[in-house]
Amino acid sequence: LEAKHLGKVYEGKVPYTALHDINFQVEEGEFVAIMGPSGSGKSTLLNILHGVFPASSGTVKIGGQEVHFANASEAINFGIAKVHQEISVIPEMTVAQNLMLGKEPCKRGLIDHKKMNQMAQELLEKLHCSFSAEDKIGDLTAGEKQMIGIAKALQLNAKVISFDEPTASLSDAEVKILFEIIHELKKSGVTILYISHKMDEIFEHCDRATILRDGKYITTLELKNCTEEDLIHAMVGRDVSLFAKRTKPSRCDKNNVVLKVKNLTGEAFQNVSFELNKGEILGFFGLVGAGRTEVMRAIYGADKTAGGTVEYNGKLLNCKKPTDAVQAGIALISENRKEEGVIPNLSNMDNIAISSLKKYQKS
Ligand code: ADP
Ligand code: MG
Repeated sequence: LEAKHLGKVYEGKVPYTALHDINFQVEEGEFVAIMGPSGSGKSTLLNILHGVFPASSGTVKIGGQEVHFANASEAINFGIAKVHQEISVIPEMTVAQNLMLGKEPCKRGLIDHKKMNQMAQELLEKLHCSFSAEDKIGDLTAGEKQMIGIAKALQLNAKVISFDEPTASLSDAEVKILFEIIHELKKSGVTILYISHKMDEIFEHCDRATILRDGKYITTLELKNCTEEDLIHAMVGRDVSLFAKRTKPSRCDKNNVVLKVKNLTGEAFQNVSFELNKGEILGFFGLVGAGRTEVMRAIYGADKTAGGTVEYNGKLLNCKKPTDAVQAGIALISENRKEEGVIPNLSNMDNIAISSLKKYQKS
């Protein structure tokens, strides 16, 4: 794969140059990381390679042949597949229907459901998935949905597969399976492009790392010859300590408890207790499935609780629905932004105002 002088300008009221004159090459069967800070153009680069939208300038060659994909399915037909950063599935359909969408096996002009389920099930078993081909997608966890995206790319038998931050919502066990599969693909000659922020993953698995910053190509590093510091230096353009230090004092007021949660119990968690002080940032740590999101949703009134109490500024708070929490002055930024955080067919203005419309009412 070879990109030459690749550029991308996003048109709009104010055109924005997201990629400037990118040149890079990937050898057949190589496992290359594409790294860079948020907004540096990684997803834009992959979207061009995969025909999601065209480049504004420059060329891409695959196997020596210059390609101009008009859309993503042309790229797929050419043999390059992508596992997207955002999970894209149709929740009302089954796992098998999602996996085989557009390529359903047919018999006498009708979809052969039995064969479709069987093909999907085989694919899931290869990925050690514990859910079934006939399950509804909507019932799966975020990590399981991500595995569907991976399974979808695998069944295309592509020559180039790119992964855009695939492990962000996977559990440790799922990550392990994913890398086993990637290494198998690599052995069979598949070329892998891999976007991730996780240093340990990159060093353990990738051959080289191509670094972007502010839409510009910075360098490509041979990972066996460099250190984590070298990589970070290339990414941010200066030396940074691996462990950030707090330079400003915390504004937390230890004598002022704002939120007091006691023995909170819900469907996915039991007896959760903590106190949050004024001005404090409290982190919730745990593996995928540990119940972090569920605790926040319960406090916010998005899910039912089965016991325990929440006090807010010394008063008992009992949010039965999110509106109660909003009225009390509690906001939640959801994990699953695309499905729960925004209404995509409304404007930015409407989305921002939707939870505080009262403010804009005329009396
Ligand atoms: P990364 O994947 O490295 O985080 P992206 O490729 O998503 O970066 O984005 C690169 C830059 O292009 C960012 O500044 C982003 O805001 C901008 N950008 C991305 N998509 C669009 C779009 N559809 N329209 C306008 N600007 C965009
Ligand atoms: Mg991205």
